[in-house]
Amino acid sequence: MSCDFPLSASQLSELAEKFPTPFYLYDEKAIRENMRAFTKAFSIFPDFCEYFAVKALPNPYILKILASEGCGGDCSSLPELVLCEKSGIKGEKVMFTSNETPAAEYEFAYKNGNIINLDDITHIDFLEKTLGTLPELICFRYNPGPLKEGNALIGKPEEAKYGLTHDQIIEAYAECKKRGVKRFGLHTMVASNELNPEYFVDTAKLIFNLAVELKQKDGVRIEFVDLGGGIGIPYKPEQKKVDYDYVAKGIRKAYDEIIVPAGLDPLKICWECGRPITGPYGYLVTKAIHEKHIYREYIGVDASMADLMRPGMYGAYHEVTVSGKENAPKDHVYDVVGSLCENCDKFAVQRQLPEIKPGDLLIIHDAGAHGRAMGFNYNAKLRCGELLLRPDGSVKEIRRRETMEDYFATLDFAGLDSFN
Ligand SMILES: *Cc1c(COP(=O)(O)O)cnc(C)c1O
Repeated sequence: MSCDFPLSASQLSELAEKFPTPFYLYDEKAIRENMRAFTKAFSIFPDFCEYFAVKALPNPYILKILASEGCGGDCSSLPELVLCEKSGIKGEKVMFTSNETPAAEYEFAYKNGNIINLDDITHIDFLEKTLGTLPELICFRYNPGPLKEGNALIGKPEEAKYGLTHDQIIEAYAECKKRGVKRFGLHTMVASNELNPEYFVDTAKLIFNLAVELKQKDGVRIEFVDLGGGIGIPYKPEQKKVDYDYVAKGIRKAYDEIIVPAGLDPLKICWECGRPITGPYGYLVTKAIHEKHIYREYIGVDASMADLMRPGMYGAYHEVTVSGKENAPKDHVYDVVGSLCENCDKFAVQRQLPEIKPGDLLIIHDAGAHGRAMGFNYNAKLRCGELLLRPDGSVKEIRRRETMEDYFATLDFAGLDSFN
């Protein structure tokens, strides 16, 4: 949990005068610094690339910032591919790790020279039929099944819909090689929001061994290994940040023990992380507008689960602080709630907080990934906008808040007149 919000109470209330709450605020300087630390840690590999998972924070300004730090983009839909394209992330800087993919999306990715990561062995035929050929470079997503323990958020690999089994992987690469594919990548992702660094080292070993097996069995030379996403962030105060250097060194040791002796060095290492890249550096700022005293004490805020779904959907913990009351005693217990007609619309449940009064600005922390992106319009709630705090201290609106017109845009009111 990062309690170091980048603005003082007076700066934040000034900002809230200009941009009415609720809004997301992203800290560009912190995003860049973190990205540099991440890249530095993994630069002990001959070639390294982070493909930022666009779904975590699909805003072109954020993508452009990350691209300038060397990132590519990881996409799973046509609009995400277009977002990358428009943000200057092109060609093999785009990883298309999709599943149940419509033909038109493969066509777009192929036309743009993006890396296509297939989710099933039957997709070889599907792709060949769609494109009339197979791309020069193909990647497959490996599902290790019972070989690998899952974690809480993503579940057990053998119950996950993603990827190919071990035997299918062996067959799939042999088949693609036979059909003329020249270059190969190998992908896996078996965790989400995992904080144990050993987990990633173990996953790397698993995938390295598979790369060696592919070389020995099929004569297939894997040129990159994509370790997926899944690096967690410490949402709770007692949790610890994943040490990038520790993970990188652990994976490097496995690389030296498995990849180098097998003659697979140099092998490119990739991640497609979203959460640790932007998560801790984004905040949802919302205003307390009501206080209610029934069987519990409630603080009603102007944001709702439609702006940040994680607490309501997964019971996820997000730290909440009150601007200007950071050092006040936490001598009240509140449920901090939004306005949806759903009782799960609670940003905090039975949380120890300082006394909150209507008008106070609340900061919901670690909302920079899977935050605004997961927003929705249930109850006709209009989603909030996004602000970027630039390194020079200025603030740029990078997404405006939704208006009623946006909500009605897919409806045809004019047609009502002639509808009986
Ligand atoms: C969600 C997802 C990611 C990113 O996960 P984070 O937890 O945000 O790092 C990467 N790759 C794939 C295939 C995903 O589905």
